[in-house]
Order: sequence, then structure tokens, then C-alpha cells
Amino acid sequence: MKKIYAAPDLLSAGHVHNLLGQSGIESELRNYYLGGGIGDLPVNECWPEIWVDDADAAHAEEVVRELQEALAEPPGPSWICPQCDERNEGQFGECWRCGTLRPEGTNSP
Ligand SMILES: [Zn+2]
Repeated sequence: MKKIYAAPDLLSAGHVHNLLGQSGIESELRNYYLGGGIGDLPVNECWPEIWVDDADAAHAEEVVRELQEALAEPPGPSWICPQCDERNEGQFGECWRCGTLRPEGTNSP
């Protein structure tokens, strides 16, 4: 077994665990009993960890890397709705006000 990921919170660990499952990789979630017995241990030794078989490690690390890249991606520039002139933040694919889809390649002026 090999540890491929340690998360600061259980939610992230669970997400990676599910994602690996969707990619056909069996993984083991360890240290998910956060909250009890942290006491004297360094905090990062209590983080939830994802472990996989050695044979799956390379593939699993790739899945984790892709996830981290997706999370780190900036939301993009804000854009102006052609329908109602409302300014929308870059992460929205449609106008929050009127629901018009974001036109391709639209940036703020
Ligand atoms: Zn609009």
C-alpha cells in the first residue's frame, strides 16, 4: 500500500476517495476519526489519508493531481451579459440575473 494523499479535512479526503472509486481505483481512507485523541500528535499526522495499492499508485496520483489543478484554476475574467448588461463573475456560465448563457470568449471591457 502507498499513501498518495493527505487532506486537512475529512470532506477533501472523502472527495478524493470517491473520485478514485469513479476512476476504478480501490482506495482506503485512514485516520478519519478526527476529533478524538489528537492530543500530543503533530496535527498533520492526524489528517485523513488516502492509501492505494502500489500497482494503482501512479494512476491515483494522476487523478489527485488533476483534481488539485482543477481546484487551483482561477475562475476567469468577469463578463457582461449581452442581454441585460449585468456584470457576472468569471465562474458563472450564465447570467445570474436573466439566465442568458455566457457568450464564447467574452471578457470584461
Ligand atoms: Zn443577463
